[in-house]
Amino acid sequence: MNDPAKDFKSELEQAFDKAFKSAKGGDVAWNEFMKTYGIAPLGDKEKEFLLKSDMKIATGAFPIELRRVFQVILAKYAAVATAAENAAVLTLLNNYNIDVEVIRYYNRIKPFTGMSDIFKNAKSTTKNYSEGIGEARKSAHRCKSCGAPRLEEMQYDECLFCGSELFVPNN
Ligand SMILES: [Zn+2]
Repeated sequence: MNDPAKDFKSELEQAFDKAFKSAKGGDVAWNEFMKTYGIAPLGDKEKEFLLKSDMKIATGAFPIELRRVFQVILAKYAAVATAAENAAVLTLLNNYNIDVEVIRYYNRIKPFTGMSDIFKNAKSTTKNYSEGIGEARKSAHRCKSCGAPRLEEMQYDECLFCGSELFVPNN
């Protein structure tokens, strides 16, 4: 029997899996997969910028590309849920947090840093007040979701790395 809620979940999982199995920074198979959702890969310049940035990845497609696929899948099932008044799909949609899912993906593709992370965490708990101010200032220029540094001159509305919205519109 046709079960849109099940299809929805498996389609999201498939996208995650394809992105994860892609070569570092994307490959032909991943580009073909994105194309089936009408999505073009990042440009060479953007990819080069990301590969040189602080946001290191060990493997897989860039998180922002996976987010774009997720967005198409979400829109597709939002239409299904509305047309068929499918409560199960609506519940899944309401509980879906795209930022959380993209970060979950990022955690799978980032290089294992092992001990250095442990030391970093230990250090951050002992930082003094003035260091705290410095940190706060720095974080104003970082993506709230993934922590990617944002350059002032970059006029992106969304984080180039994870696709999270950088600016909350103040109406
Ligand atoms: Zn980000």
